[in-house]
Amino acid sequence: MGPDSRPAAGDAQGALSVSRVPAFADNYIWLIHGAGPRRGRVAVVDPGEARPVLAALKAGGLTLDTILITHHHADHCGGVEALLDHAEVPVFGPAGEHIPGRTAPLVEGAQVVLAGLGLNFRVLDIPGHTAGHIAYVGHGALFCGDTLFSAGCGRLFEGTPPQMLASLDKLAALPAATRVYCGHEYTAQNLKFAAAVEPGNAEVHAYTAEVTAKREANAATLPSTLGLEMRINPFLRTRLVAVRAAANARVGRALTDDAEAFGVIREWKDGFRA
Ligand code: ZN
Ligand code: FE
Repeated sequence: MGPDSRPAAGDAQGALSVSRVPAFADNYIWLIHGAGPRRGRVAVVDPGEARPVLAALKAGGLTLDTILITHHHADHCGGVEALLDHAEVPVFGPAGEHIPGRTAPLVEGAQVVLAGLGLNFRVLDIPGHTAGHIAYVGHGALFCGDTLFSAGCGRLFEGTPPQMLASLDKLAALPAATRVYCGHEYTAQNLKFAAAVEPGNAEVHAYTAEVTAKREANAATLPSTLGLEMRINPFLRTRLVAVRAAANARVGRALTDDAEAFGVIREWKDGFRA
């Protein structure tokens, strides 16, 4: 897939304008466009590679303003140094992780003021996938890297189930209309697991049909919305009766601890082959 610098669908008045740059096999690098007349300036979120970003900038006549990083994995920040060779811009990233070229270390509650874009974002600490993972929230959008995926969540490489559950709870508390920009196109595979956990969830089946059609047309399934995720994502539903029953059946006893139940579902997914 080549770079796609068209604004995402649903780019209504007042809504944040975001475009998508596919990278590697299934990563999405997001370009956040400046407000109004500043549309030609962009912040790039998680540039795992520079080449497709530079191509999208060139194709769209766009100017790179800022780099935003959610976590230290190479498929999210591997392109930073090559982008800095092209343009010396600020690099925002989590304070708790090593991020190449980082100029602004961020912690929970920090405000990211992008004056060149006329946009501000708020930082949430969301550990679990990595120990210092952060998210950027603002203008009705959430950039959550590899913590929340559509119909799934990130693997627990550096964190524990209680940490990840708390991080997902934090994201789930955002407004239902929040648009969710994840780091990977994993939705189709994740929905297979969601259906295994909740075979009786009609929304999962209906959404699977929608996603299958989109993928056949080579279209993205992102952004999602938090409202949709609350209905189809098993990792946001581990306290609900059906999901808890599936976790209980998995371990052969009644789980009483929310984080333990979450951990059972996460471990199940780690070994799941559709
Ligand atoms: Zn990652
Ligand atoms: Fe990743």
